[in-house]
Amino acid sequence: MAILKVARLGHPVIRAQAEPIPKERIVSPEFQRFLDDMVETMREYDGVGLAAPQVHVSAQVAVIEVTDNRRYPGEGPVPLTILINPKILAASKKQRLDWEGCLSVDELRGQVPRAESLEVEAYNRQGDKVRFRAQGFFARIIQHECDHLGGKVFLDRMVTLATLTHLREFVRYWQEG
Ligand code: ZN
Repeated sequence: MAILKVARLGHPVIRAQAEPIPKERIVSPEFQRFLDDMVETMREYDGVGLAAPQVHVSAQVAVIEVTDNRRYPGEGPVPLTILINPKILAASKKQRLDWEGCLSVDELRGQVPRAESLEVEAYNRQGDKVRFRAQGFFARIIQHECDHLGGKVFLDRMVTLATLTHLREFVRYWQEG
C-alpha cells in the first residue's frame, strides 16, 4: 500500500467533473490496490472521507470512515464505506448547519448547510450495487465527498463566508467543550 499525494484547492483536478468507473474494472487488482491506497491515505491524514480527485485521480470514487477521529471529536463512528459512481437518490428537505473541513482546503473550517438524511446508490468494492440511507454526520460526509466528484468543495456550499475560520482559531473560539 502507499500513501498518495493530496491535491489542494487550486489544482485543476479539484474542479474537474470526475469520470465514472466501468463496472468491470472494479474487481481488477490494480483498482483494488488504488482503493487500499485511498483508505490508507485517508487514515494517514486523519480524514473522515477522501474522494479520488483529492489524490489527483479524476474518478468517481470516495472512501469514508469515522473512528475516534482527532479532527472531528465526538462524531461517528461510521464504518469503512467505499462508494464507486455514487448517486444521491433523495435527500431530506430538512437541513442542518455544521462545521466542515477538507484535506484539500488545508487548515480551514466553515459552517455548511447539508441535508440531514439521504438515500445513496453506488457500487461497493466487490462491484455490487448497494443502496442505503444515511443520516447526520455520515450523510454530511457523503454530500461533501459527492461534491468533490462534481468538482465542488465545501466553500461553494457555504451560505456566507462569515464563519470561515482557520483551524487554530476554530479550536480556540468555536469548538464546544
Ligand atoms: Zn473534502
